[in-house]
Amino acid sequence: MSELHIGLDDTDSQKGMCSTYVVSQILQKLDLRKNLISPPELVRLNPTIPWKTRGNGALSIRLKLGQKNIENLKKEIIELVEEYREESSNSGVVFFDNDPRNIEELRDFSKKAVKEIVKIQNARELAKEYGEAYEFGNGQGVVGAVCAVGYVFSDYTFELIGYRKKERWGTERDLEKNSVKKISKKYSPTIWDNFDWRNSEMVLSPNSPCPVLFGIRGDSKERIIEASKELRGEEVVLKQLFKTNQGTDEHLQHKKNIDKIKPYTSVIIKGEVVREPETIEGGHVILGICGEAGNVIDCAAYEPTKDFRNTIRKLIKGDTIKVFGGVRKKPLTINLEKIKIIDLAINSEEKNPVCPDCGNRMESAGKEQGYRCRKCSTFANKKVKIFRERELEEKVYEVPPTARRHLSKPLIREEQD
Ligand SMILES: [Zn+2]
Repeated sequence: MSELHIGLDDTDSQKGMCSTYVVSQILQKLDLRKNLISPPELVRLNPTIPWKTRGNGALSIRLKLGQKNIENLKKEIIELVEEYREESSNSGVVFFDNDPRNIEELRDFSKKAVKEIVKIQNARELAKEYGEAYEFGNGQGVVGAVCAVGYVFSDYTFELIGYRKKERWGTERDLEKNSVKKISKKYSPTIWDNFDWRNSEMVLSPNSPCPVLFGIRGDSKERIIEASKELRGEEVVLKQLFKTNQGTDEHLQHKKNIDKIKPYTSVIIKGEVVREPETIEGGHVILGICGEAGNVIDCAAYEPTKDFRNTIRKLIKGDTIKVFGGVRKKPLTINLEKIKIIDLAINSEEKNPVCPDCGNRMESAGKEQGYRCRKCSTFANKKVKIFRERELEEKVYEVPPTARRHLSKPLIREEQD
């Protein structure tokens, strides 16, 4: 029995289409569902890359084929990609006749692409050596295509995508909010990030003019499929389940020293707050943390993270926290996805003592002369320390689902481990 492993990326653009739709069409139009070795895979690659298309997701299809003419099938797939791909996109398609996950070089390349920047040259070489590649536009998509096809899951989740009727693409989506709330409640915690309770917003529906009506995310494919049947709204013409590395934190790398942090990667690092949170223009909150080696880096909770910013604003100098997030370049800043509070500093302030008779604050009686109340002639030697309660706990705080990166692991999954 022969196999065919297909990798595909960058058929979409900012304005429409979606690579998952192209994959769903390939499976349906060429009647390949029965040949699937596993569900098609949606692999999210490094989310900090500035030139990525929307979610930086690449796709693979793994097939077991009987007597089918493989060369002919490849031709048919390319024809469908050409038909559906956005003209301005830089699509890449690769075919491997043997399971590329058995090739160490390819596996490593895929894993690297989730965390760092990989070179198109390397992707082209790998495709040429072990398979075959088709490029469109500037060919950038070949990177994702090679990564998706060589990717081996560590942790994984699922997403079931429902597609709209073609006539409705670009129009307002009709999805009953109540049904979304209902499934989110009923199937929690095995499905997650479909509704944002804090902001009362549907997260499972994109805003772009693409063919997607919804994408239900979660850990159990059975529960996701059940939930999809309970959604109410406009007609769904096609549903496709994907296995994915979404919600796994695979992009994050533990770093010991701040000076080792590179732009366009995502990190976990422990530090002490040395510059207190400040709200800048646009509503973004910036603070500075200092790592073990003494270097300081900015951390940001951007405006779209909404009430997460209020948590960040409560941090004070001396708090020890672990931060999780992608690193942008100028200036080097960690874009916070979540924080873990390790140790809260004591929030205290020295104030003049209170008069025991009238209850007013005493005044200084002169340099090193103590404090007195003029009215009651009472006297005290020293200032007093006032302790303020911290409104934070030593736990993890995360951005709301509306602001979450695809790869970022929601707390609800952490709690199930
Ligand atoms: Zn007094």
